[in-house]
Amino acid sequence: MHDMLPLLKETDFPAITRDKMHTLQVNLGYLCNQTCFHCHVNAGPRRTEIMEKKTIAQLIHLMEIADIKTLDLTGGAPEMNPHFRELVLAAKVLGVHVIDRCNLTIINEEGYEWLASFLADNAIEIAASLPCYLEDNVDKQRGNGVFQTSIDAIKKLNALGYGQADHHLTLNLVYNPQGPGLPPSQEGLQADYKRELLTRYGILFDELFTITNQPIARFGSTLVSKGQFEDYMQLLKDNFQASNVAGVMCRNLISIDWRGYVYDCDFNQMLGLHAPINSHPELHIEDLIYKAELQSALKAGLKGQPIAVMNHCYACTAGQGSSCGGAL
Ligand code: SF4
Ligand code: SF4
Repeated sequence: MHDMLPLLKETDFPAITRDKMHTLQVNLGYLCNQTCFHCHVNAGPRRTEIMEKKTIAQLIHLMEIADIKTLDLTGGAPEMNPHFRELVLAAKVLGVHVIDRCNLTIINEEGYEWLASFLADNAIEIAASLPCYLEDNVDKQRGNGVFQTSIDAIKKLNALGYGQADHHLTLNLVYNPQGPGLPPSQEGLQADYKRELLTRYGILFDELFTITNQPIARFGSTLVSKGQFEDYMQLLKDNFQASNVAGVMCRNLISIDWRGYVYDCDFNQMLGLHAPINSHPELHIEDLIYKAELQSALKAGLKGQPIAVMNHCYACTAGQGSSCGGAL
């Protein structure tokens, strides 16, 4: 894959500092039941990079000592980490809200019959990628049969109360554009998704999050190989909205990789751009918990600490803005 860092380094993106941290976003590893063409971590059934029990215990400890409100789990398929349930249950005991970034198909895999009811019983919020409401488009991007299996999984979740207005179980869907353009209006697309998914398949969900593609990882490499990188960067810059800067997600979250290293966001994690808390090099969750010189920063919820920004940050501020919770 193309090394994107040299292309992104020279930036005029405004310097930003952290507000109080409330979210811990964790990549539990690259093991996945799918092998999607667009996958940014190249996840798959043969990947062995997976968060170990020791790091899981450190995460739990961090939730005990820092004021964390939300634990946001991603992967791979986060549920395939053998410690997934232990981590979720520990977070619930601490009163931390849990989001599972679920690929939906895992719900129907052999050996995961426990998953749907486990998520429902623990009121876990689900965020699931569904790049289109049309079968062909989804199967092209995510593999043959993925659309139908995803629909079957949503039906199962609906039956448990997910996506139903009178329940408190949240199922949000995530959309990102297929090519080098900005997402359409989140509100308009959500209305289309709701109508089409209900009339075609009888399924319900709560909100649709539209996310702008970052010019990094596989999408970035594809732009470079097609000679579209500069144009896409220009599109992001031309649509810069200063009012979105204050709302970018890195101001309130830290992102942890499967080895326990700390980043400002998932995108910086993919770029290997470590969080520059107190200028500590290659910050690890262990440092954050135990190193004396980092304790006052942690106590302050990392407020006022710098964020490692580069040109890819323009994807978060273009147009309606973009975060892991959709438009800003
Ligand atoms: S489901 Fe998600 S993590 Fe798994 S291969 Fe597809 S994009 Fe990657
Ligand atoms: S990519 Fe977005 S979330 Fe990440 S550091 Fe840049 S502005 Fe923040």
